[in-house]
Amino acid sequence: MSDEPLYSLEPAAVAGLLRTDLERGLSAREAERRLDEVGPNTLKEAGGVSPLAIILEQFSDFMVLVLLGATVVSFLLGEISDAVTIIAIVIINAVLGFVQEYRAERSLAALRELTAPTARVVRDRAEFEVDAATLVPGDLVMVEAGDQVPADLRLIEASSLAAEEAALTGESHPVRKTPRAVAADQRPTLGEQGCMLFMGSVITRGRGRGLVVKTGMSTEMGLIAGMIQESGEEETPLQRRLEQLGKYIVAACLVICGVVVVVGVRNGESIYRMFLAGVSLAVAAIPEGLPAIVTIALALGVQRMSKRQAIVRRLPAVETLGCATVVCSDKTGTLTENQMTVRRIIAGHRSVYVSGTGYSPKGRFYGDGREPLDPRRNEALRLALLVGALCADARLAPGGIKGDPTEGALVVAAAKAGLLVEEIEAEWPRVAEIPFESERRRMTTFHRVDGGLWLLCKGAADTVIDLCTRFRDEAGERALFAADRHEILKANEEMAGDALRVLGLAARRIPAGDPRAAAVLGGRTEAEDLAPLERDLCFIGLVGMIDPPRKEVYRAVQTCQRAGVRTVMITGDHWATARAIAQEIGILETTSISGGAILTGRELDKMSDRELARAAQTARVYARVSPHHKLRIVRALKQKGQVVAMTGDGVNDAPAVKEADIGVAMGLSGTDVTKEASSMVLADDNFATIVAAIEEGRAIYDNIRKFIRYLLSCNVGEILVMFLAAVAGLPLPLIPIQILMVNLVTDGLPAMALGVEPPEPDVADRPPRPPQESVFARRLAIKISVRGLMIGLATLIGFWVPLHVGAPIEHARTLAFATLVSCQLIHVFDCRSERRSLLKLGFFTNPLLIGAVAVSTAMMLGTIYLPGMQPVFKTTALTVGDWLWVLILSGGPNIFVSLRRVFIYHGKERIWMQIGRGREVSRPKEDNEDE
Ligand code: ATP
Repeated sequence: MSDEPLYSLEPAAVAGLLRTDLERGLSAREAERRLDEVGPNTLKEAGGVSPLAIILEQFSDFMVLVLLGATVVSFLLGEISDAVTIIAIVIINAVLGFVQEYRAERSLAALRELTAPTARVVRDRAEFEVDAATLVPGDLVMVEAGDQVPADLRLIEASSLAAEEAALTGESHPVRKTPRAVAADQRPTLGEQGCMLFMGSVITRGRGRGLVVKTGMSTEMGLIAGMIQESGEEETPLQRRLEQLGKYIVAACLVICGVVVVVGVRNGESIYRMFLAGVSLAVAAIPEGLPAIVTIALALGVQRMSKRQAIVRRLPAVETLGCATVVCSDKTGTLTENQMTVRRIIAGHRSVYVSGTGYSPKGRFYGDGREPLDPRRNEALRLALLVGALCADARLAPGGIKGDPTEGALVVAAAKAGLLVEEIEAEWPRVAEIPFESERRRMTTFHRVDGGLWLLCKGAADTVIDLCTRFRDEAGERALFAADRHEILKANEEMAGDALRVLGLAARRIPAGDPRAAAVLGGRTEAEDLAPLERDLCFIGLVGMIDPPRKEVYRAVQTCQRAGVRTVMITGDHWATARAIAQEIGILETTSISGGAILTGRELDKMSDRELARAAQTARVYARVSPHHKLRIVRALKQKGQVVAMTGDGVNDAPAVKEADIGVAMGLSGTDVTKEASSMVLADDNFATIVAAIEEGRAIYDNIRKFIRYLLSCNVGEILVMFLAAVAGLPLPLIPIQILMVNLVTDGLPAMALGVEPPEPDVADRPPRPPQESVFARRLAIKISVRGLMIGLATLIGFWVPLHVGAPIEHARTLAFATLVSCQLIHVFDCRSERRSLLKLGFFTNPLLIGAVAVSTAMMLGTIYLPGMQPVFKTTALTVGDWLWVLILSGGPNIFVSLRRVFIYHGKERIWMQIGRGREVSRPKEDNEDE
């Protein structure tokens, strides 16, 4: 390669150096060969967690290390079977922990892959989307507003292109980009190399094509990648709080275990045995698996969500989803199908109806009285169709269209009149354009016709009419009068009221002699110089297109309503279109629309932030808003304590998406920038998917509470039985390896199975959870303590009574072991729901839990009955009578709870009936019926 920097060379020279073609791009074979040679176009990451690291981590827990140390002591003291058993249990526990964490890690990695960046590339002349990691030097890449630049590129073509390169240069304002070479002797900085695009920067405006010059770690970004690498996975607020809580639990457990050891030794037990008992108890009682199970519940939930098309990019969003109180959704494509079909055209003074469905170019034109119209004979109609199709980038494609649906509808409508866009474009070649932007609500193209220049414009009707001073009807072109304007706006409103999206069409012929026309025709005009030409246009007509609501949206809006989540529609469309659609999908009542339910961008502009915060409490529809309004809306809602989910697709939506509590980006139509700013991506762009994600988010949080309740009440039970026995001066109710066995049997599988409880049928029937609510709120802490106490007491009685009537200590311990395990395996079913009984829930709705309990029961029975196990675990076989005793004790807490429910709860109901004095009084909502 020459020593000349690429920015100083002309595109053709760069292509020559990179051995590629400016039109055809690389061949697929060559691209593959280069990929093998230079490697993938990725920045080296800090690296995921390796399986080995996860295994080692299982043994690095302090208490497990102490236990292993104690095992060595047992071994030295000749207690070989004890030592081997403890090691076996520790290993099985570690395997379980490994499986849990490895699964969690793998599903997180899978998520990262789902949101991997893509790039549009031309190879062998065909344009398609590829994984950005497969780009190689020489590839011809297309970029447009909202894209993240996938590699370092030398521009060869640009239209109104600007990029924001803050990550590299620190300059947060977008810089203009053109293909013009920059002289090397000026030694330009990165920010001054206007014909280069750098990996990681963001296209904020326009579009362009460029050749990949560097990939992966050789890019400018790669050179500094080490400096900007993101720190590891984000923890969710719940995970952080649990970590904090874990520290207190460990401290409390250690203190109590210490007391048990000291009291035991004072009661005459051997120091060695009591030490081992203390450590085993600590291992059993400390819920070391909790963080991993929380991660699993989150990660599995996230996988379930991705099956329902919601791809979570940041774990904390899962929790926040359950707290969402408002969902702000774009209309087009999210609430509606984004399947535009032109239904009505107003050309001149004539109203025309168009038949046909979807993007099939078959359909006819009819007049007001349903009489067929021949578009070839109707000049005004033909002109409207021509302008619509020429001022569009969409193309007919087999089975549909390629490109923007709004533009596709125009191209299809023209095709119905026999106007094929490729053919008319040959006569009207495009020489320049101002691409569509949401903020401007219009698009303008410039065409060379017979040596002159034509400007064609399409956009929101009320925007386009403001640029017009002339009007064209059947009689020809003339001045636009106030009456015409009034008539056009009225027709616009009427069509919008029928839920049609209405575009205005306009045109202007600029004589070739005009110096600016000459500049445009000569290709010497910059985008900024084009905008002033958008004036004195001639109004051609209105086009109304339907975009039906998505079928599933009505139900999703209803679900939100039941779940206490407000749905808000945000759209760039006309307020009448927005209102009609909002009524159709149930966001607005059809009969009465209260004041303030619909706000327009113009009204928003007049409001102060305070006023908006107040107005946002009642607004259900925002119409004719631009992306920058969205940020204000999010802030206004947040200011009043709402937890906001906000959707976005365009590059300008990114700030609002980032600011929202749950930023939601569109997977299909969304730009890289918005996806990057979001915490969740909708793979199908569908509003119903957000609602599904909210349900899943609530279910995941419920499940976390379920196994926290289970694990902690069991651990409280385990520690209490040992503590109470020590205080009461009794012998150890369980020997160390029995404690470890209890831990293994009850903590691992059943807790994990609770983490995958299916969502309860009523998840969407309750109000959102307050975001600051403690995980122990709604009396969970009380439930845990009471049930823990009951488990502890039941086990103690199970041990003490037989001992008192003269049973051998091994037998009493076996009974205690069986009681403790059974209590927990029964309790796990209570934990399946905080609100519903097992009968209502259905016993078999979580088959994994049944499997887990079956395995645990088998392990318990094996420990008690297998001849090889009895001497190791110091157990004796239990009789039928013994089991009766065990079942009475372990079922006791449930019987107690049921009786209490009958007496106290029903008693309460009677009182409520009396207060209601025979009137029907709704029962106080008790979501804690037990404990
Ligand atoms: P949403 O409802 O999701 O906000 P939207 O399509 O209504 O999306 P924008 O894309 O910002 O919002 O469009 C705003 C307005 O610009 C539309 O109502 C329409 O009048 C006009 N418009 C949309 N697409 C085009 C286009 N390709 N060319 C010209 N004008 C367009």
